[in-house]
Amino acid sequence: MQEFDLIARYFAPLATAPEAFGLKDDAAIIRTRHGFDLVITTDQVAQGTDFFADDPPDAIAKKALRVNLSDLAAKGAKPEYYLLNLALPRSVREEWLAEFAHGLSEDQRQFGISLLGGDTSATEGPLSISITAMGFVPEGRMVKRSGAKVGDAVYVTGTIGDSGGGLALLRGEANDFGEADRAYLVNRYRLPHPPATFGTTLYDIAHAGVDVSDGLIADLGHLASASGVGIVVRGEQVPLSPALKALWGTDTLARAVVGGDDYQIAFTAPSGLSGPFTCIGQVQAGEGVSLRMNDEAVVIPQPGYRHF
Ligand code: ADP
Ligand code: MG
Repeated sequence: MQEFDLIARYFAPLATAPEAFGLKDDAAIIRTRHGFDLVITTDQVAQGTDFFADDPPDAIAKKALRVNLSDLAAKGAKPEYYLLNLALPRSVREEWLAEFAHGLSEDQRQFGISLLGGDTSATEGPLSISITAMGFVPEGRMVKRSGAKVGDAVYVTGTIGDSGGGLALLRGEANDFGEADRAYLVNRYRLPHPPATFGTTLYDIAHAGVDVSDGLIADLGHLASASGVGIVVRGEQVPLSPALKALWGTDTLARAVVGGDDYQIAFTAPSGLSGPFTCIGQVQAGEGVSLRMNDEAVVIPQPGYRHF
């Protein structure tokens, strides 16, 4: 495989925005939009940490993209463009790249985004994919971590912990677990479902927001400290899937709120709102995040995933 051939064959067709010049130039441009701010975020996924080498290539591609889209959603931004940096092991075959690019093209259509450029290099190490995603939000309206107000309710999208359950299953936990539940949880690990469409409306309602990637408690902790407030999470209100409860039983809540890789969004806003999200707690004066179950404190030894 020649670097320039593979760029022309697999990546140029993904550069649908005219601003990418068909990947035939050294750089792309972004036209600023009057009345909007450009929101930029980057996230990297690595083999062995965020996915397994034998995961389907299209799912690896989508995960690399979607872990960025959850950040844009948490900021209220509408995704538009992304840059793709690939460190490819020399053993990667062309069929693998074709499926990888196909996954990107499906997600580009689903989320309405275009590839803008990137870089490709070979590596002696494991596969690593770094994506930088960009989107627009009305000027001055990006939802920050720092805007939570005492008296706000805390909301979360989707269900929490499914991806952690899927990872546990892939690591060999509970081998005799039911096939349908297993498939559901493993798919949630391989393929996050960030609430990108809902995210584009977040700036209208939210005072503060964060994407849930390291673990619900850890990420709410970032929001609480940036806002200078405390957060109480009501364990009985945290949305948990039936499949996860089947896997973890009475441990489900304690494990779900510290498992990583959810790629949902948590935000604070006035209480009493309804929509594609669940109220899980309140913002109060103080600091830190406490978890309560039927009004009793639950002790959490390690609030989320740590790389080091
Ligand atoms: P340079 O020599 O400046 O690094 P390249 O030859 O790597 O430039 O890149 C040529 C074009 O192909 C550029 O437009 C670049 O953005 C694009 N490109 C290279 N690798 C990728 C990739 N993995 N994904 C998307 N675009 C890429
Ligand atoms: Mg290059």
